[in-house]
Formats: sequence, C-alpha cells, structure tokens
Amino acid sequence: MPRAAFTTLGCRVNQYETQRILDSFEGAGFTIVPFNERADVYVINTCSVTGQAEAKSRQTVRRAARTNPSAKVVVTGCAAQMTLNKDREFDAAHLLIPNPEKLQTLDRFLEAFPAFKERAGKNGAARKSAPVRLHVRANVKIQDGCDVYCGFCSIPYTRPGMVSRNWKEVVQEVRNLCRRGCKEIILTGVLIGSYGRDTGSGGPDFEELVEILSETREVVRIRISSIEMTQVSNRLIKILNRAGSKVVPHLHIPLQSGSAKVLKEMRRPYTQADYLELCARLQNEIPDIAITADIMVGYPTETDDDFEETLNVCESVRFARAHVFRFSPRPGTPADEWGDAVSPQVKQVRSKQVIETTNRTRLEYARRFIGREMQVVVERRSGSSGMLRGYTQNYIELEFPGPQSLVGEVATVRIVSADGKGVLGEIVSAVLGPRSVRHLPVLNR
Ligand code: SF4
Repeated sequence: MPRAAFTTLGCRVNQYETQRILDSFEGAGFTIVPFNERADVYVINTCSVTGQAEAKSRQTVRRAARTNPSAKVVVTGCAAQMTLNKDREFDAAHLLIPNPEKLQTLDRFLEAFPAFKERAGKNGAARKSAPVRLHVRANVKIQDGCDVYCGFCSIPYTRPGMVSRNWKEVVQEVRNLCRRGCKEIILTGVLIGSYGRDTGSGGPDFEELVEILSETREVVRIRISSIEMTQVSNRLIKILNRAGSKVVPHLHIPLQSGSAKVLKEMRRPYTQADYLELCARLQNEIPDIAITADIMVGYPTETDDDFEETLNVCESVRFARAHVFRFSPRPGTPADEWGDAVSPQVKQVRSKQVIETTNRTRLEYARRFIGREMQVVVERRSGSSGMLRGYTQNYIELEFPGPQSLVGEVATVRIVSADGKGVLGEIVSAVLGPRSVRHLPVLNR
C-alpha cells in the first residue's frame, strides 16, 4: 500500500482540516506514516498568517521533497492559496490545492496521479464521515472564512466568504467523536461568533449551537477556541456561567494591540476601553475564567507609547496565557502599503517584554489554583518527565504522576505547585470509561 505523510502549520482550523484529509487517504487505502519518514505522498497544510509562517511552510515543502525525492508533494492551505492568488510557483510542490477545495485533496490527488488509485487498492472516494483517529481533545470546525479585513491580516484573502457548516452535521460529528472516547471538543473556525449568520448552517446561531452541543448527552466538555471580543455576547457569558455548564471557563480573545490608536489603524472594531471593560466583566462574573489572547507587536504605526499601552492592558487583564506575534507585512493587505516600519530589533525587544509580562501573569493565574481540585483531560505521558500531562477546564496545562490507563480519561487532580518550570498536581480520583469512578491513592511526586 502507498504511504502518505501529513503535517500542519498554523491554526486549529488547519489542524482540523489536515485530520479530515488524512482520514480520507487512510479510508482510500493509504498507510499513514510520520512526516519525517519516507512516504510516497506528502501533504503539507500551510499557513501564511505571518512572513515567518509562510517561510516555514516553504521549508517544510522542501524538507518533504528531500526526504523522498521520488515522492509526490501536495501543498494546500493559506500559503498555497496566496501563491495561487499571486500566480507564482510553490517550489518543490507537484500539486497545489486551493483552500476551498482542501477537503477534496484526495480526489484532486488521484485525478492528477491516477496510478495511485490502483496502488491504494480502493476507489479513492473521499469519505464524508468524521475522523477515525481518536484525539482525546478534538478540534471541530464549525465555520470558515472572514469578512472583517483587519489591516494586517491575509485570512480574508485566503479564506474568503463566510461559510457555516450545517448544524446537524456538526452535532453528528461531535456525537461520533464523544462516543469513541473524545473528552473535549474544541469548537474552531475563523470567526466562530459569526456562526449561522450566513445561510449555510440552516439553523441556529453560535450561542444556540453551543447550547445544543452542551445539552448533547455524550459530550463531556466544550471549549471555544478563539472568539473576537465583539462577539462575546451576554448570552454566551450566561452559558459559560451556568452551574454545571459543559462549556469550560476559558475564552481566547485576540487583543492584537492595547493602543486605541493602533487598534483603529489595524481596523479592529473595538477600542482599548471596550476590551478592558469586557475582560473586567468576565473576571467579575466568572471568577475562575482564563482569558488568553493573541498580541501583535511592531505594527508599522506602533510607537513606544502605543507599545506601552499594550503592556498596560497585559498588566490590567493579567492574561492566563498569550500568543505573541511580530508583525510582518502580508502581500495585498492594507498594512502592506505602510511597509515594515518597526525594526526587527525593536520588535524583538517588544516581543520579549510582552512574553515576560504574560509569562508572569500566567504563573500568577496558575498559582491561584494551588490546593484546588480540577478536572483534567489526560492527553499523554510526557517523554521527558515520565508524568501524565493534561489540561484543566480553565486551560492550565499540568503534569502529575499516574498510571498509563488514565491517558484519554478525565481525572480529578489537586494542583500542588506552580513555578517557572510548570504546574504539578496529584490525583484525587479518575473516571475510567463511562460512569466508573475510581478513587486513586495519592502518589508521591
Ligand atoms: S477578524 Fe481580523 S484578524 Fe481575525 S481572521 Fe478576520 S481579518 Fe484576520
């Protein structure tokens, strides 16, 4: 059987889509191998959100071609789409798949290289069903596309048009995943708060879909991956705050800049005051909530004073975690016309300052939960420490000693310490399979 290898750069939407492509290849008779092994087909799902992500995408394509020079290299994703838009070559690729056709990658591949149909031994029809591989925390894409056109962002050009998936299909996929043991569903999309505003879903809006999923018997817990602050509604806050809610108290709300002036120049539809007010309200009404964010430094108009405003917002919100980006001009975006005015050295210094600040607030946040019992979805055993690793509801990643049988399960873990090296816990009890609760002895660290 031919061997296929897959890799993903970028966001959770890409991760979800790679999984769907991988499943279709596996269903068509391909053997799936790790990306660093010799394969007959390499599929690379690329990212163009920053210049660095695009460069890494190109390196990854070249690396695949080097691993097996006779393999077919298939490239899709946002960097491939940018290349198609610009009508340029993507070196070392045998086949470029546009973003809107990404989920038909198998069909496009077999059309281009029909010899693989026989080698795979099946008809190669792309499966429409949910992924077959189990992830204890699984991404489920509910929406695609963005029409906001922020000044720095290429996504509206690489994923144009707003498309919501049919809600019944989403619910069915979630149920299938949960029946096979998935313990956390991560709702993903480019602008998920807009779910249902186009006609694609044929039914509920975002909040209603979240309600439907949280009332679905099989679902253990639901995480909202990233949501724009303008889309955090009163209804959503109520859902998060409801006693026994399956929707975890964590919102990832992109900030980008703390300066009201830069936010306006970025064409972001909110002010610093709006952002601070929302976070204060969330922290007041849902005391355990983790607020995490994307923060960009080095936008072409960002002065030292503007950057200070970003640091001020970080100090004020005290993020539980942050993803810090350095601006790089994306071709065709409004900010591209302003060039790359902030030097790499200044960007580096600013990036370091934001990372230091948010690492400090992240540690402070985790320390608030020392002594508390948290529900942890156990993902894997760490290769370096030998301990189990997982995430609490409020996105604290921690390690704790325990048996291998807990991987893929939900454990009640007491947090015992948090420092610069990480967060440590000890098991209190665990749910092994449906409804059987076992109280485990507390193990020495
Ligand atoms: S909201 Fe702005 S940053 Fe987010 S995907 Fe749309 S254009 Fe990009």
